[in-house]
Amino acid sequence: MESDNKRIYLSAPHMTGNEQKYINSSFESNWIAPLGPNVDRFEKEISQYVGANGALAVSSGTAAIHLALRLLDVKAGDKVFCSTLTFVASVNPILYQQAVPVFIDSEFDTWNMSPLALKKAFMDAEKEGNLPKAVIVVHLYGQSAKMDEIIEICTFYQVPIIEDAAESLGSTYMGRKSGTIGKFGVYSFNGNKIITTSGGGMLVSNDHEALVKGKFLATQARDISPYYQHSELGYNYRMSNILAGIGIAQLAEIEGRVSQKQAIFQRYVRELGHIKEFVFMPEYQGTRHNRWLTAFFIDSVQPMFTPLELIQELENENIEARPVWKPMHLQPLLKEYRFYPHSIHLNVADCLFQKGVCLPSGTNMTEEEQARVIQTIQSFVSRKRKQRFIAT
Ligand SMILES: *Cc1c(COP(=O)(O)O)cnc(C)c1O
Repeated sequence: MESDNKRIYLSAPHMTGNEQKYINSSFESNWIAPLGPNVDRFEKEISQYVGANGALAVSSGTAAIHLALRLLDVKAGDKVFCSTLTFVASVNPILYQQAVPVFIDSEFDTWNMSPLALKKAFMDAEKEGNLPKAVIVVHLYGQSAKMDEIIEICTFYQVPIIEDAAESLGSTYMGRKSGTIGKFGVYSFNGNKIITTSGGGMLVSNDHEALVKGKFLATQARDISPYYQHSELGYNYRMSNILAGIGIAQLAEIEGRVSQKQAIFQRYVRELGHIKEFVFMPEYQGTRHNRWLTAFFIDSVQPMFTPLELIQELENENIEARPVWKPMHLQPLLKEYRFYPHSIHLNVADCLFQKGVCLPSGTNMTEEEQARVIQTIQSFVSRKRKQRFIAT
C-alpha cells in the first residue's frame, strides 16, 4: 500500500496553523515588504524568549554570521577559529570576508568544540603573533558546547565569540539560552530547523549599538543623506515582513517543539538503546539539549555495518536519515586550512563523521512513522547479527 510507505523526512517544516493569520495581516495592511510590524514583533519576541538585549531579523542564518564577522571587523587575511564539525554555512562567511578559517576539533562529551584543541590553537597563534579576530562556536544538533571552558580561554586572549546557534534555539547552558552567552548569537529559520520561516535568520546580542550598525549594513549601508549615498559596503540581508509573520506563529510553539523533539529522542533510546554498539549523543551536565536531530554513533572495533549501509537500508523504506556532518577540514573547498585535533592521538570529529547517523526527528512525524523507522533499524541489526554469527 502506498500510504504505508509515505516518505519520512529528517526534519520537515511543521506549521502550527496560526501562520496564515500573520501573513494575512501583512496583506491587509500592505506591509508586504520590506520590514514592517511583523519584523519588529518577531525581533522583540525572540530577544525576550532567549533573554538578549536585542535582535536583528535577516534573510538567513548565514547572513547573520556574515554580519557578526563584519561587526567584529574581520577583514582579508584575519584568522577566525571555527568548529570543524558543522554545516558549511558556519564557515562560508569567513571566506566571504577573505579571512582565514582555522578548524577546531570536537570532544566526546558534547560533540562540540574541544577546549583542549582551542587552547592549543590559541597558544600557537600567540607564538606566531597572529591571534584570531573571532571564534565561531557551533552548538551541534542542539547540544551546547562547553561554554565555561571556551569563554575562559577566549577571555584570556580577549577574543570575542560568535555562537552559531542555528540548530540550538530553545537549548540552554547553565540556565542561559543557547546563543546569548557569546558576543553575538545566530539562529536559523531554514526549512528543516526546529522552527522555520521557510528561510530566515536572526542575529542577537546585548550590544545595542552593534545591532544598530548591523541593521545599517543589512540594508545596503545607506548614509543619512537626502540622496542614496554610501560610504561603506552593505548587503540586502533583511527579513521580509511576510516571513516574520510565519516566525511569530512558529516561535509561540518553540517550547512545545523542544518537548516533542526530546520525546522523539527518548523513544529512540528506549527502543534502540539495547543495541550495545549504539552510543547516543549525550546531553551534557547543566545543559538542555533541544534534540533538533537524534544522533548516535556506532561504537565497535569491527562494526557489523557502516552508517551508510544503515542509511541506505532506511532509504529503501523511504526514510530519510543522514550521516553526521562531514567535518570542514575534510572538505575539498577547505582542505588548505589548518586543523587542530582534540589530541595527537584522537581526532573526534572524524570519528563522529565516520561512525555517526542522524535519524528522522521531525515533530510532525507520527508515532506510527517513528515505529516504522525503529522497526527498520531493529530488523536490519538482527539480520546483520545473524550474518556475522554465521560467518564466524
Ligand atoms: C542551518 C545552519 C546554518 C545556516 O542557516 P541558514 O539559515 O540556512 O543560512 C548555519 N550553521 C549551522 C550549524 C546550521 O545548521
